[in-house]
Amino acid sequence: MRKSILVSVFVAVMLLACQGVLYASYGLNVIESDSIGVIYFNLGKAYNMLREQVKNFDKTSDANTRQQVEQMLGTMADKSPFGKDLSVAKINEAIEKWHNDGVFIPTGGVWISVSKDLQPKVVIEASIKPDKIAEYLKSAPNTQGVDFTPKNNVISFNAPGMDLPVEISSERIVIGKVAATPQQPGDSWQPYYKRVTSPDQHLAVELDVQSVIESVLTLHQQRSAATSEKICAANMRVMMGATEMYNMDNAEMMSKLDIDKLVKGQYLREPPKCPNGGTYSASGDLATDGEIACSIHNTVSNLKKYDGPAQPAAKIDVASQLPDPRLQHIARARIFADTTGMLIAIAVKDEPTRQQFKEMLHQNLKMVEQQLSQNKGDARVETVKKMFAALTHVDRAPWLGISVKQSENEQILVGTAVVGVLAAIAIPNFQKARGEARKKACYANQRVLMGGVEMYNMDNAEMMHELNMQALVDGKYLKAIPQCLDGGVYSSEGDIAENGKIKCSIHGSVDW
Ligand SMILES: [Zn+2]
Ligand SMILES: [Zn+2]
Repeated sequence: MRKSILVSVFVAVMLLACQGVLYASYGLNVIESDSIGVIYFNLGKAYNMLREQVKNFDKTSDANTRQQVEQMLGTMADKSPFGKDLSVAKINEAIEKWHNDGVFIPTGGVWISVSKDLQPKVVIEASIKPDKIAEYLKSAPNTQGVDFTPKNNVISFNAPGMDLPVEISSERIVIGKVAATPQQPGDSWQPYYKRVTSPDQHLAVELDVQSVIESVLTLHQQRSAATSEKICAANMRVMMGATEMYNMDNAEMMSKLDIDKLVKGQYLREPPKCPNGGTYSASGDLATDGEIACSIHNTVSNLKKYDGPAQPAAKIDVASQLPDPRLQHIARARIFADTTGMLIAIAVKDEPTRQQFKEMLHQNLKMVEQQLSQNKGDARVETVKKMFAALTHVDRAPWLGISVKQSENEQILVGTAVVGVLAAIAIPNFQKARGEARKKACYANQRVLMGGVEMYNMDNAEMMHELNMQALVDGKYLKAIPQCLDGGVYSSEGDIAENGKIKCSIHGSVDW
Protein backbone atom coordinates (compact mmCIF):
# COMPACT_ATOMS: atom_id res chain seq x y z
CA MET A 1 0.00 0.00 0.00
CA ARG A 2 2.74 2.37 1.05
CA LYS A 3 4.60 1.71 -2.15
CA SER A 4 1.65 2.41 -4.36
CA ILE A 5 0.89 5.68 -2.59
CA LEU A 6 4.48 6.75 -2.95
CA VAL A 7 4.50 5.92 -6.60
CA SER A 8 1.12 7.49 -7.27
CA VAL A 9 2.24 10.66 -5.60
CA PHE A 10 5.51 10.88 -7.38
CA VAL A 11 4.30 9.61 -10.56
CA ALA A 12 3.40 11.96 -13.11
CA VAL A 13 3.87 14.26 -15.75
CA MET A 14 5.20 17.03 -17.38
CA LEU A 15 7.30 18.27 -19.98
CA LEU A 16 7.07 21.72 -21.05
CA ALA A 17 7.12 22.33 -24.73
CA CYS A 18 10.79 23.26 -24.78
CA GLN A 19 11.88 20.14 -23.00
CA GLY A 20 14.36 18.87 -25.53
CA VAL A 21 17.10 19.28 -22.98
CA LEU A 22 19.28 16.34 -22.10
CA TYR A 23 18.45 14.62 -18.87
CA ALA A 24 21.98 15.18 -17.57
CA SER A 25 21.65 18.93 -17.74
CA TYR A 26 18.72 19.15 -15.34
CA GLY A 27 20.84 20.83 -12.69
CA LEU A 28 19.26 22.75 -9.85
CA ASN A 29 21.40 25.79 -10.29
CA VAL A 30 18.78 28.15 -9.06
CA ILE A 31 19.78 29.83 -5.90
CA GLU A 32 22.79 27.67 -5.27
CA SER A 33 24.16 24.65 -7.01
CA ASP A 34 23.91 22.40 -3.95
CA SER A 35 20.14 22.73 -3.76
CA ILE A 36 18.31 19.51 -3.16
CA GLY A 37 14.97 21.09 -3.85
CA VAL A 38 13.43 24.31 -5.05
CA ILE A 39 9.94 25.65 -4.68
CA TYR A 40 8.89 28.55 -6.84
CA PHE A 41 5.65 30.36 -6.28
CA ASN A 42 4.64 33.33 -8.39
CA LEU A 43 3.41 35.55 -5.58
CA GLY A 44 3.35 38.62 -7.81
CA LYS A 45 0.92 36.93 -10.15
CA ALA A 46 -1.25 35.65 -7.31
CA TYR A 47 -1.30 39.13 -5.81
CA ASN A 48 -2.31 40.77 -9.08
CA MET A 49 -4.96 38.16 -9.72
CA LEU A 50 -6.45 38.54 -6.26
CA ARG A 51 -6.44 42.31 -6.57
CA GLU A 52 -8.13 42.19 -9.98
CA GLN A 53 -10.71 39.68 -8.84
CA VAL A 54 -11.66 41.62 -5.74
CA LYS A 55 -11.72 44.88 -7.67
CA ASN A 56 -14.00 43.49 -10.42
CA PHE A 57 -15.99 41.16 -8.23
CA ASP A 58 -19.30 42.92 -8.88
CA LYS A 59 -18.77 42.95 -12.64
CA THR A 60 -17.42 39.45 -13.17
CA SER A 61 -19.37 37.27 -10.75
CA ASP A 62 -22.97 36.17 -11.10
CA ALA A 63 -25.64 37.02 -8.53
CA ASN A 64 -25.55 33.57 -7.01
CA THR A 65 -21.80 33.63 -6.37
CA ARG A 66 -22.02 37.17 -5.00
CA GLN A 67 -24.65 36.09 -2.52
CA GLN A 68 -22.64 33.03 -1.45
CA VAL A 69 -19.46 35.01 -0.95
CA GLU A 70 -21.15 37.79 1.04
CA GLN A 71 -22.86 35.16 3.17
CA MET A 72 -19.54 33.49 3.89
CA LEU A 73 -17.96 36.83 4.77
CA GLY A 74 -20.91 37.46 7.12
CA THR A 75 -20.05 34.37 9.14
CA MET A 76 -16.41 35.47 9.39
CA ALA A 77 -17.20 39.07 10.34
CA ASP A 78 -17.03 38.66 14.11
CA LYS A 79 -13.43 37.52 14.14
CA SER A 80 -12.19 39.58 11.22
CA PRO A 81 -9.82 42.50 11.67
CA PHE A 82 -12.14 44.46 9.36
CA GLY A 83 -14.91 44.48 11.94
CA LYS A 84 -18.51 43.37 11.76
CA ASP A 85 -19.47 44.82 8.39
CA LEU A 86 -17.03 42.67 6.44
CA SER A 87 -17.75 42.81 2.72
CA VAL A 88 -15.99 42.46 -0.62
CA ALA A 89 -16.09 46.26 -0.97
CA LYS A 90 -14.33 46.64 2.37
CA ILE A 91 -11.67 44.09 1.44
CA ASN A 92 -11.16 45.91 -1.86
CA GLU A 93 -10.69 49.18 0.00
CA ALA A 94 -8.08 47.57 2.27
CA ILE A 95 -6.17 45.99 -0.63
CA GLU A 96 -6.15 49.29 -2.56
CA LYS A 97 -4.87 51.15 0.48
CA TRP A 98 -2.15 48.53 0.91
CA HIS A 99 -1.25 48.85 -2.76
CA ASN A 100 -1.11 52.65 -2.73
CA ASP A 101 1.03 52.71 0.40
CA GLY A 102 3.44 50.50 -1.57
CA VAL A 103 5.41 49.31 1.46
CA PHE A 104 5.55 45.75 0.14
CA ILE A 105 4.13 44.81 -3.26
CA PRO A 106 4.97 41.31 -4.55
CA THR A 107 6.37 41.61 -8.07
CA GLY A 108 7.62 38.12 -8.87
CA GLY A 109 8.44 34.82 -7.28
CA VAL A 110 8.99 33.46 -3.85
CA TRP A 111 11.97 31.13 -4.21
CA ILE A 112 12.61 28.59 -1.51
CA SER A 113 15.69 26.48 -1.96
CA VAL A 114 17.06 23.92 0.47
CA SER A 115 20.74 22.99 0.37
CA LYS A 116 22.36 19.68 1.34
CA ASP A 117 22.83 20.76 4.95
CA LEU A 118 19.06 21.32 5.01
CA GLN A 119 19.48 25.07 5.45
CA PRO A 120 16.67 27.04 3.85
CA LYS A 121 17.30 29.93 1.49
CA VAL A 122 14.42 32.17 0.63
CA VAL A 123 14.15 34.99 -1.87
CA ILE A 124 11.00 37.07 -2.20
CA GLU A 125 10.85 39.40 -5.16
CA ALA A 126 8.89 42.51 -4.31
CA SER A 127 8.83 46.26 -4.57
CA ILE A 128 9.71 47.42 -1.07
CA LYS A 129 10.13 50.65 0.87
CA PRO A 130 12.97 49.68 3.24
CA ASP A 131 12.47 52.62 5.62
CA LYS A 132 8.79 51.75 6.09
CA ILE A 133 9.53 48.04 6.51
CA ALA A 134 12.13 48.97 9.14
CA GLU A 135 9.37 50.67 11.18
CA TYR A 136 7.28 47.47 11.13
CA LEU A 137 10.25 45.33 12.08
CA LYS A 138 11.11 47.54 15.05
CA SER A 139 7.65 46.99 16.50
CA ALA A 140 7.88 43.19 16.11
CA PRO A 141 8.43 41.07 19.25
CA ASN A 142 11.95 39.86 20.20
CA THR A 143 13.77 42.42 18.11
CA GLN A 144 15.37 44.49 20.87
CA GLY A 145 18.96 45.29 20.03
CA VAL A 146 18.60 44.46 16.33
CA ASP A 147 19.53 47.32 14.04
CA PHE A 148 17.04 47.67 11.20
CA THR A 149 18.27 51.03 9.99
CA PRO A 150 18.61 50.95 6.19
CA LYS A 151 22.14 51.66 4.94
CA ASN A 152 22.27 52.65 1.27
CA ASN A 153 18.62 51.64 1.16
CA VAL A 154 19.41 48.09 2.34
CA ILE A 155 18.50 46.57 5.71
CA SER A 156 20.85 43.79 6.87
CA PHE A 157 20.51 41.84 10.10
CA ASN A 158 20.62 38.34 11.55
CA ALA A 159 17.23 36.78 12.23
CA PRO A 160 16.93 36.80 16.04
CA GLY A 161 17.50 33.35 17.52
CA MET A 162 18.61 31.86 14.21
CA ASP A 163 21.84 31.84 12.30
CA LEU A 164 20.16 33.32 9.25
CA PRO A 165 21.27 36.52 7.58
CA VAL A 166 18.44 38.65 6.22
CA GLU A 167 18.81 41.35 3.59
CA ILE A 168 15.98 43.63 2.55
CA SER A 169 16.44 45.94 -0.43
CA SER A 170 13.95 47.80 -2.55
CA GLU A 171 13.72 44.79 -4.95
CA ARG A 172 13.78 41.72 -2.77
CA ILE A 173 14.05 40.04 0.60
CA VAL A 174 16.83 37.48 0.85
CA ILE A 175 16.87 35.10 3.82
CA GLY A 176 19.77 32.70 4.35
CA LYS A 177 23.18 32.41 2.78
CA VAL A 178 22.27 32.85 -0.85
CA ALA A 179 25.36 32.72 -3.06
CA ALA A 180 24.51 35.47 -5.51
CA THR A 181 21.48 37.58 -6.11
CA PRO A 182 20.84 38.92 -9.58
CA GLN A 183 20.90 42.63 -10.37
CA GLN A 184 17.41 42.49 -11.83
CA PRO A 185 14.59 40.29 -10.62
CA GLY A 186 14.83 36.95 -12.42
CA ASP A 187 18.26 37.69 -13.95
CA SER A 188 20.57 34.86 -12.92
CA TRP A 189 17.68 32.54 -12.10
CA GLN A 190 16.30 32.97 -15.57
CA PRO A 191 17.48 29.58 -16.90
CA TYR A 192 15.60 27.76 -14.18
CA TYR A 193 12.68 30.11 -14.37
CA LYS A 194 12.35 29.45 -18.10
CA ARG A 195 12.55 25.74 -17.60
CA VAL A 196 9.83 25.54 -14.99
CA THR A 197 7.39 28.13 -16.19
CA SER A 198 4.90 28.69 -18.87
CA PRO A 199 3.63 32.26 -19.05
CA ASP A 200 0.97 31.35 -16.54
CA GLN A 201 3.02 29.14 -14.28
CA HIS A 202 2.53 30.05 -10.69
CA LEU A 203 3.79 27.07 -8.77
CA ALA A 204 6.74 24.79 -9.39
CA VAL A 205 8.39 22.27 -7.14
CA GLU A 206 11.50 20.44 -8.24
CA LEU A 207 13.31 17.93 -6.06
CA ASP A 208 16.60 16.14 -6.46
CA VAL A 209 15.10 12.97 -5.01
CA GLN A 210 18.33 11.08 -4.28
CA SER A 211 19.87 14.11 -2.55
CA VAL A 212 16.73 14.53 -0.47
CA ILE A 213 16.83 10.89 0.64
CA GLU A 214 20.55 11.06 1.37
CA SER A 215 20.25 14.30 3.32
CA VAL A 216 17.41 13.00 5.43
CA LEU A 217 19.28 9.78 6.20
CA THR A 218 22.48 11.69 7.01
CA LEU A 219 20.63 13.98 9.33
CA HIS A 220 19.09 10.96 11.00
CA GLN A 221 22.53 9.45 11.48
CA GLN A 222 23.88 12.68 12.93
CA ARG A 223 20.98 12.78 15.34
CA SER A 224 21.68 9.26 16.57
CA ALA A 225 25.36 10.16 16.91
CA ALA A 226 24.40 13.10 19.11
CA THR A 227 22.33 10.70 21.17
CA SER A 228 25.26 8.35 21.68
CA GLU A 229 27.32 11.18 23.19
CA LYS A 230 24.50 11.94 25.56
CA ILE A 231 24.25 8.29 26.60
CA CYS A 232 27.99 8.30 27.25
CA ALA A 233 27.72 11.52 29.31
CA ALA A 234 24.92 9.97 31.36
CA ASN A 235 27.17 6.95 31.99
CA MET A 236 29.95 9.22 33.22
CA ARG A 237 27.58 11.04 35.57
CA VAL A 238 26.37 7.74 37.03
CA MET A 239 29.96 6.56 37.57
CA MET A 240 30.94 9.87 39.15
CA GLY A 241 27.99 9.60 41.56
CA ALA A 242 28.96 6.00 42.39
CA THR A 243 32.58 7.03 43.01
CA GLU A 244 31.46 9.83 45.35
CA MET A 245 29.32 7.40 47.34
CA TYR A 246 32.18 4.93 47.46
CA ASN A 247 34.50 7.61 48.78
CA MET A 248 32.05 8.62 51.49
CA ASP A 249 31.75 5.02 52.69
CA ASN A 250 35.34 3.88 52.46
CA ALA A 251 38.36 5.14 54.37
CA GLU A 252 40.61 4.21 51.46
CA MET A 253 39.26 6.47 48.75
CA MET A 254 39.13 5.74 45.05
CA SER A 255 41.44 8.07 43.11
CA LYS A 256 41.57 6.16 39.85
CA LEU A 257 38.44 4.76 38.30
CA ASP A 258 37.90 1.11 39.23
CA ILE A 259 34.60 0.03 37.72
CA ASP A 260 34.90 -3.56 39.01
CA LYS A 261 35.23 -2.32 42.56
CA LEU A 262 32.17 -0.07 42.14
CA VAL A 263 30.12 -2.99 40.85
CA LYS A 264 31.33 -5.39 43.59
CA GLY A 265 30.51 -2.80 46.27
CA GLN A 266 27.05 -2.42 44.65
CA TYR A 267 27.63 1.25 43.89
CA LEU A 268 26.91 0.33 40.26
CA ARG A 269 24.57 -2.35 39.04
CA GLU A 270 26.75 -3.19 36.03
CA PRO A 271 29.70 -1.71 34.16
CA PRO A 272 28.36 1.08 31.91
CA LYS A 273 29.19 0.77 28.22
CA CYS A 274 30.02 3.66 25.93
CA PRO A 275 27.73 3.26 22.90
CA ASN A 276 30.66 3.95 20.56
CA GLY A 277 32.98 1.52 22.36
CA GLY A 278 35.07 4.11 24.23
CA THR A 279 36.87 3.16 27.44
CA TYR A 280 36.43 5.02 30.74
CA SER A 281 39.19 6.28 32.98
CA ALA A 282 39.84 8.99 35.52
CA SER A 283 41.13 12.36 34.45
CA GLY A 284 42.77 13.76 37.60
CA ASP A 285 42.22 12.44 41.14
CA LEU A 286 38.62 11.28 41.63
CA ALA A 287 38.95 11.72 45.40
CA THR A 288 39.54 15.42 44.95
CA ASP A 289 38.47 17.31 41.81
CA GLY A 290 39.09 14.76 39.08
CA GLU A 291 36.60 13.83 36.37
CA ILE A 292 35.70 10.70 34.48
CA ALA A 293 36.67 10.65 30.80
CA CYS A 294 35.70 8.51 27.85
CA SER A 295 38.40 7.72 25.27
CA ILE A 296 36.02 8.82 22.53
CA HIS A 297 33.70 11.40 24.03
CA ASN A 298 36.06 13.08 26.54
CA THR A 299 34.48 14.46 29.74
CA VAL A 300 30.96 15.56 30.67
CA SER A 301 32.05 19.17 30.92
CA ASN A 302 33.81 19.02 27.55
CA LEU A 303 31.87 16.45 25.56
CA LYS A 304 33.32 15.58 22.15
CA LYS A 305 32.09 13.66 19.18
CA TYR A 306 35.48 12.17 18.41
CA ASP A 307 38.67 12.05 20.40
CA GLY A 308 41.93 11.79 18.53
CA PRO A 309 42.22 11.76 14.76
CA ALA A 310 39.07 12.83 12.99
CA GLN A 311 37.14 9.86 11.66
CA PRO A 312 35.44 10.38 8.32
CA ALA A 313 31.66 10.25 8.58
CA ALA A 314 30.46 6.83 7.57
CA LYS A 315 29.11 6.78 4.04
CA ILE A 316 25.44 6.03 4.09
CA ASP A 317 24.27 2.98 2.24
CA VAL A 318 21.14 4.60 0.87
CA ALA A 319 19.98 1.54 -1.07
CA SER A 320 19.80 -0.66 2.03
CA GLN A 321 17.60 1.85 3.88
CA LEU A 322 14.93 2.33 1.25
CA PRO A 323 11.53 0.70 1.74
CA ASP A 324 11.71 -0.32 -1.93
CA PRO A 325 15.10 -0.62 -3.67
CA ARG A 326 13.58 0.67 -6.92
CA LEU A 327 13.30 4.11 -5.34
CA GLN A 328 17.02 4.62 -5.93
CA HIS A 329 16.25 4.94 -9.65
CA ILE A 330 14.06 7.99 -9.16
CA ALA A 331 16.27 10.95 -9.96
CA ARG A 332 13.97 13.97 -9.93
CA ALA A 333 10.43 14.85 -9.06
CA ARG A 334 8.52 17.81 -10.41
CA ILE A 335 5.17 19.33 -9.70
CA PHE A 336 3.98 22.27 -11.77
CA ALA A 337 0.71 24.08 -11.59
CA ASP A 338 -0.72 27.00 -13.43
CA THR A 339 -4.18 28.30 -14.08
CA THR A 340 -4.68 25.90 -16.98
CA GLY A 341 -3.50 22.70 -15.44
CA MET A 342 -1.20 20.75 -13.26
CA LEU A 343 1.47 18.18 -13.80
CA ILE A 344 3.29 15.79 -11.53
CA ALA A 345 6.20 13.76 -12.80
CA ILE A 346 9.16 11.71 -11.76
CA ALA A 347 12.25 10.94 -13.76
CA VAL A 348 13.24 7.27 -13.49
CA LYS A 349 16.70 6.56 -14.83
CA ASP A 350 16.43 2.76 -15.03
CA GLU A 351 14.29 1.64 -17.95
CA PRO A 352 12.95 -1.69 -16.53
CA THR A 353 12.05 0.10 -13.28
CA ARG A 354 10.38 2.86 -15.26
CA GLN A 355 8.23 0.25 -17.00
CA GLN A 356 7.27 -1.27 -13.65
CA PHE A 357 6.31 2.12 -12.24
CA LYS A 358 4.33 2.86 -15.37
CA GLU A 359 2.32 -0.31 -14.90
CA MET A 360 1.72 0.47 -11.23
CA LEU A 361 0.49 3.92 -12.14
CA HIS A 362 -1.98 2.51 -14.64
CA GLN A 363 -3.20 -0.11 -12.20
CA ASN A 364 -3.68 2.39 -9.41
CA LEU A 365 -5.67 4.73 -11.60
CA LYS A 366 -7.80 1.87 -12.86
CA MET A 367 -8.46 0.76 -9.29
CA VAL A 368 -9.65 4.21 -8.26
CA GLU A 369 -11.89 4.40 -11.35
CA GLN A 370 -13.43 1.05 -10.47
CA GLN A 371 -14.06 2.14 -6.89
CA LEU A 372 -15.71 5.28 -8.19
CA SER A 373 -18.06 3.38 -10.48
CA GLN A 374 -19.28 1.31 -7.52
CA ASN A 375 -20.46 4.40 -5.63
CA LYS A 376 -23.24 5.33 -8.03
CA GLY A 377 -25.46 7.01 -5.45
CA ASP A 378 -22.80 9.48 -4.40
CA ALA A 379 -23.10 12.83 -6.19
CA ARG A 380 -19.42 13.53 -5.69
CA VAL A 381 -18.48 10.59 -7.90
CA GLU A 382 -19.48 12.36 -11.09
CA THR A 383 -17.18 15.31 -10.46
CA VAL A 384 -14.30 13.04 -9.54
CA LYS A 385 -14.93 11.01 -12.70
CA LYS A 386 -14.73 14.17 -14.78
CA MET A 387 -11.45 15.02 -13.09
CA PHE A 388 -10.17 11.60 -14.02
CA ALA A 389 -11.31 12.09 -17.59
CA ALA A 390 -9.12 15.18 -17.75
CA LEU A 391 -6.00 13.22 -16.76
CA THR A 392 -3.32 12.58 -19.34
CA HIS A 393 -0.48 10.16 -18.87
CA VAL A 394 2.95 11.55 -19.40
CA ASP A 395 5.36 9.01 -20.73
CA ARG A 396 8.38 10.58 -22.28
CA ALA A 397 11.62 9.00 -21.15
CA PRO A 398 12.81 9.44 -18.49
CA TRP A 399 9.70 11.18 -17.28
CA LEU A 400 6.61 9.42 -16.11
CA GLY A 401 3.50 10.95 -14.66
CA ILE A 402 0.10 12.49 -15.10
CA SER A 403 -1.13 15.88 -16.05
CA VAL A 404 -4.46 17.61 -15.90
CA LYS A 405 -4.85 20.03 -18.76
CA GLN A 406 -7.98 22.05 -18.81
CA SER A 407 -9.93 24.23 -21.14
CA GLU A 408 -11.52 27.33 -19.69
CA ASN A 409 -14.70 25.47 -18.76
CA GLU A 410 -13.03 22.33 -17.48
CA GLN A 411 -10.77 24.49 -15.41
CA ILE A 412 -13.69 25.90 -13.50
CA LEU A 413 -15.20 22.45 -13.33
CA VAL A 414 -12.09 20.85 -11.91
CA GLY A 415 -11.53 23.76 -9.54
CA THR A 416 -15.07 23.44 -8.26
CA ALA A 417 -14.74 19.69 -8.08
CA VAL A 418 -11.59 19.89 -6.02
CA VAL A 419 -13.14 22.33 -3.58
CA GLY A 420 -16.38 20.34 -3.52
CA VAL A 421 -14.65 17.03 -2.90
CA LEU A 422 -12.42 18.48 -0.22
CA ALA A 423 -15.38 20.11 1.49
CA ALA A 424 -17.50 16.98 1.23
CA ILE A 425 -14.72 14.94 2.77
CA ALA A 426 -13.71 17.45 5.41
CA ILE A 427 -16.99 18.86 6.66
CA PRO A 428 -18.78 15.71 7.84
CA ASN A 429 -15.61 14.58 9.62
CA PHE A 430 -15.25 17.96 11.18
CA GLN A 431 -18.83 17.88 12.36
CA LYS A 432 -18.39 14.36 13.61
CA ALA A 433 -15.25 15.34 15.51
CA ARG A 434 -17.08 18.25 17.09
CA GLY A 435 -19.97 15.97 18.01
CA GLU A 436 -17.54 13.55 19.64
CA ALA A 437 -15.91 16.37 21.59
CA ARG A 438 -19.29 17.57 22.89
CA LYS A 439 -20.22 14.07 23.97
CA LYS A 440 -16.93 13.70 25.83
CA ALA A 441 -17.48 17.04 27.56
CA CYS A 442 -20.96 15.85 28.59
CA TYR A 443 -19.54 12.64 30.07
CA ALA A 444 -16.97 14.68 31.96
CA ASN A 445 -19.87 16.73 33.39
CA GLN A 446 -21.59 13.55 34.46
CA ARG A 447 -18.47 12.35 36.27
CA VAL A 448 -18.17 15.69 38.05
CA LEU A 449 -21.85 15.50 39.05
CA MET A 450 -21.45 11.95 40.36
CA GLY A 451 -18.38 13.01 42.36
CA GLY A 452 -20.38 15.88 43.87
CA VAL A 453 -23.23 13.53 44.80
CA GLU A 454 -20.84 11.08 46.47
CA MET A 455 -19.24 13.83 48.55
CA TYR A 456 -22.63 15.22 49.49
CA ASN A 457 -23.77 11.79 50.63
CA MET A 458 -20.68 11.27 52.76
CA ASP A 459 -21.23 14.59 54.56
CA ASN A 460 -24.99 14.60 54.97
CA ALA A 461 -27.10 12.26 57.09
CA GLU A 462 -30.00 12.82 54.74
CA MET A 463 -28.60 11.47 51.51
CA MET A 464 -29.40 12.65 47.99
CA HIS A 465 -31.35 9.95 46.18
CA GLU A 466 -32.43 12.00 43.15
CA LEU A 467 -30.13 14.47 41.38
CA ASN A 468 -30.48 18.01 42.78
CA MET A 469 -27.82 20.15 41.17
CA GLN A 470 -28.81 23.32 43.04
CA ALA A 471 -28.33 21.54 46.38
CA LEU A 472 -24.87 20.46 45.24
CA VAL A 473 -23.96 24.04 44.30
CA ASP A 474 -25.42 25.49 47.53
CA GLY A 475 -23.46 22.96 49.57
CA LYS A 476 -20.32 23.92 47.59
CA TYR A 477 -19.97 20.40 46.20
CA LEU A 478 -20.04 21.98 42.75
CA LYS A 479 -18.76 25.36 41.60
CA ALA A 480 -21.58 25.80 39.11
CA ILE A 481 -24.33 23.79 37.47
CA PRO A 482 -22.66 22.00 34.53
CA GLN A 483 -24.17 22.53 31.08
CA CYS A 484 -24.37 19.96 28.33
CA LEU A 485 -23.00 21.61 25.16
CA ASP A 486 -25.81 20.10 23.09
CA GLY A 487 -28.46 21.36 25.50
CA GLY A 488 -29.14 17.98 27.16
CA VAL A 489 -30.80 17.89 30.58
CA TYR A 490 -29.18 16.00 33.46
CA SER A 491 -31.19 13.75 35.73
CA SER A 492 -30.68 10.62 37.76
CA GLU A 493 -31.70 7.12 36.89
CA GLY A 494 -32.28 4.85 39.90
CA ASP A 495 -31.22 5.79 43.43
CA ILE A 496 -27.95 7.72 43.23
CA ALA A 497 -27.32 7.03 46.93
CA GLU A 498 -27.14 3.38 45.93
CA ASN A 499 -26.06 2.37 42.43
CA GLY A 500 -28.11 4.80 40.36
CA LYS A 501 -26.60 6.74 37.47
CA ILE A 502 -26.54 10.27 36.10
CA LYS A 503 -27.86 10.59 32.57
CA CYS A 504 -28.11 13.25 29.90
CA SER A 505 -31.32 13.52 27.86
CA ILE A 506 -29.23 13.68 24.67
CA HIS A 507 -26.02 11.76 25.36
CA GLY A 508 -27.31 9.12 27.80
CA SER A 509 -25.15 7.77 30.59
CA VAL A 510 -21.40 7.71 30.71
CA ASP A 511 -20.06 4.21 30.38
CA TRP A 512 -18.03 3.96 33.59
ZN1 LIG B 1 31.93 7.39 25.16
ZN1 LIG C 1 -25.25 15.78 27.06
